[in-house]
Amino acid sequence: MSTPAVHMPMPRVPRRRERLQDIPVDRPKRVLLAAPRGYCAGVDRAVIAVEKALERFGAPVYVRKQIVHNIHVVTELEQKGAIFVDEVDEVPEGAHVVFSAHGVSPAVVQSAADRQLQAIDATCPLVTKVHREAVRFARDEFEILLIGHLGHEEVEGTAGEAPEHITIVNSPEEADTVEVRDPSRVVWLSQTTLSVDETMDTVRRLRERFPELQDPPSDDICYATQNRQVAIKKVAQGTDLVIVVGSANSSNSVRLVEVALEYGAKAAYRVDYADEIRQEWLEGVASVGVTSGASVPEVLVQQVLEDLAAAGYRDVEEVRTAEEDLMFSLPKELRQGASEHRGGRVRA
Ligand code: SF4
Repeated sequence: MSTPAVHMPMPRVPRRRERLQDIPVDRPKRVLLAAPRGYCAGVDRAVIAVEKALERFGAPVYVRKQIVHNIHVVTELEQKGAIFVDEVDEVPEGAHVVFSAHGVSPAVVQSAADRQLQAIDATCPLVTKVHREAVRFARDEFEILLIGHLGHEEVEGTAGEAPEHITIVNSPEEADTVEVRDPSRVVWLSQTTLSVDETMDTVRRLRERFPELQDPPSDDICYATQNRQVAIKKVAQGTDLVIVVGSANSSNSVRLVEVALEYGAKAAYRVDYADEIRQEWLEGVASVGVTSGASVPEVLVQQVLEDLAAAGYRDVEEVRTAEEDLMFSLPKELRQGASEHRGGRVRA
């Protein structure tokens, strides 16, 4: 049996040593707190799936790739006994392996079966929906232009459903050069965590070249990504600074920084942890917008608010643009005897 290659989380960036200082500015200090923010239903389900697997089968439980793209979540699960690997061939034969929320290609499912692994599929149902669309359009002999980031796990998983039919469009500029075999049978699909505006720009450019381009049957960019972008657009207008809590490999978190800057924030930064906020970011800053990506637990946002309060930003106003009440049942391999969960909480 080979020794499993343990995925190590990225090292933490150097941290501020001192507390933030409360330096006066010429206007009242305040925080605009975006809502919705943080955990989505798919992330909640995936994290609970690993916890339930550990409870039910005991440690270690192997997880292919980061279960969700957040360093804090991954580190906590490692401490509970999860072992993160890059590929299923690093998992001992017959062991339990959880597939991450970003989904896997059929080839990965087959590799796990070949090794007699006990697979638990924590793919977000909204990613599975895109996989099904890809399979259906490929079966109908469409060429699929998949808008998404090359190398992202979700894009690899979706593209693996129909590799001969799918071409990845990595940027709006690529829409101007991508080639198709038959312009009368082309459809676009997308990664779930993209910028809505940028994706629409890409589609517009594609449609200029391929007027018969078909749309997906329903939005592929998921409700959580869209809701967080709408909220930060409202918060960003006129704020001096936006802080997005989320990891560097979290697509939807990185998009929130871009959207905040595009919609009027004078500056925007992403942090994994509150103590990455730098004193110089707050120079002359009266209003601070705060949000978090879909894979970020609320405790990390509360730590940001505590540090900002120490710097004089105690007046916190929530800016809510949508209510979220979606829930997904646990993966079928864990459903028997398990509780349902709702929003960010397990319902016992
Ligand atoms: S961001 Fe969207 S697609 Fe991704 S896990 Fe959350 S709900 Fe699912």
